[in-house]
Amino acid sequence: MGVIDGGKISSQIKENILAEVQELKQKTGKTPGLAVVLVGDDPASNVYVRNKNKTCKNVGFQSFENILPTDTSEEKLLSLIDKLNKDNKVNGILVQLPLPAQINSQKVLETINPEKDVDGFHLENVGRLVTGNATFKPCTPAGIIELLDQYKVKIEGKNAVVLGRSNIVGKPVASLLLARNATVTICHSRTKDLPTIARSADILIAAIGKPHFVTSDMVKDNAVVIDVGINRVDDKLVGDVDYESVLKKASLVTPVPGGVGPMTIAMLMANTLQAFKNSLS
Ligand code: NAP
Repeated sequence: MGVIDGGKISSQIKENILAEVQELKQKTGKTPGLAVVLVGDDPASNVYVRNKNKTCKNVGFQSFENILPTDTSEEKLLSLIDKLNKDNKVNGILVQLPLPAQINSQKVLETINPEKDVDGFHLENVGRLVTGNATFKPCTPAGIIELLDQYKVKIEGKNAVVLGRSNIVGKPVASLLLARNATVTICHSRTKDLPTIARSADILIAAIGKPHFVTSDMVKDNAVVIDVGINRVDDKLVGDVDYESVLKKASLVTPVPGGVGPMTIAMLMANTLQAFKNSLS
């Protein structure tokens, strides 16, 4: 019945970040810096990297773009990460995934200095997240919690069902919901009778990458539905939720585009500002 406006909330967050960056620049003469690393020419990754650079400029950050050819060796990428780890102007390092097959992604993520790991994917940061001591919360899950908070959705004591168990979205968002005292169920491709479990959700998070997967019969009356999916269908972006029908049943739904997507970039900027502030102390 209500639409969650991720575009509006993310704009407010970015405005606040810009104001803080300007204040810190006056005090310290320094600005936050984010290094984005892209290997290859995947069109979707290219768009994400361009958006990240543009947003960096809008919030007053320095942005360092590193675009490497598809056949880059693991060794070469690791030596670039090492260089960025040592560069004082770089507070955050983001390696755009997926990486080409010849590169071990986990090894690359483990090479990033955890203090510059603004994506929150280093095992040290994953461990901190799971134990409730997160330094950098992964951006998409953090953006989801921010949306719930901004729309005053009570999390404590609620049944939250997460569809999808990826390391990027499903598992970390489940950890964050658990830390906020929700009762959390995670579903995946081997889950039996997923619709029944989904119908038990007060908060339903869909992160599976299947267009229109969540239909209104899988949604409890007045549930809050967060659609993380980004799927290209007939040259249009659609989510994992059958938006039109679910909108009639849920109390709040995120649209695609304009829901979770813009929040992911805003939270990346927030994490980079945090890394910058940590470097000052
Ligand atoms: P992923 O790594 O492909 O994981 C998909 C998950 O969904 C897996 O756990 C898989 O189960 C589960 N799944 C797939 N088909 C299923 C089915 N029929 N029933 C139940 N579970 C099923 O995907 P991801 O990286 O988490 O991304 C999910 C979606 O979110 C994608 O559309 C992606 O583009 C989007 N995304 C959006 C943002 C954003 O900023 N808005 C950020 C990241 C991702 P198994 O583990 O059993 O295989």
